Amino acid sequence: MPIFEYVCGRCGEQFEALILRADDKALCPKCGCDQARKLASGFAVGGGGPGLDGPGLASSGCGGGGFS
Ligand SMILES: [Zn+2]
Repeated sequence: MPIFEYVCGRCGEQFEALILRADDKALCPKCGCDQARKLASGFAVGGGGPGLDGPGLASSGCGGGGFS
């Protein structure tokens, strides 16, 4: 399913949005702005974009690390 993860460019809210068309815009559910950036969602997407924060984004993001 074409569900992508986004992070809002205004308030920083992370959310998932169902995008049916490539030019659909994801609206932030928190502040309603359309400046959200798409994140590489999980591990299923192999070819991630440049300059993302890496696998850390895929985890919950709250604790940081925690692999040991
Ligand atoms: Zn927002």
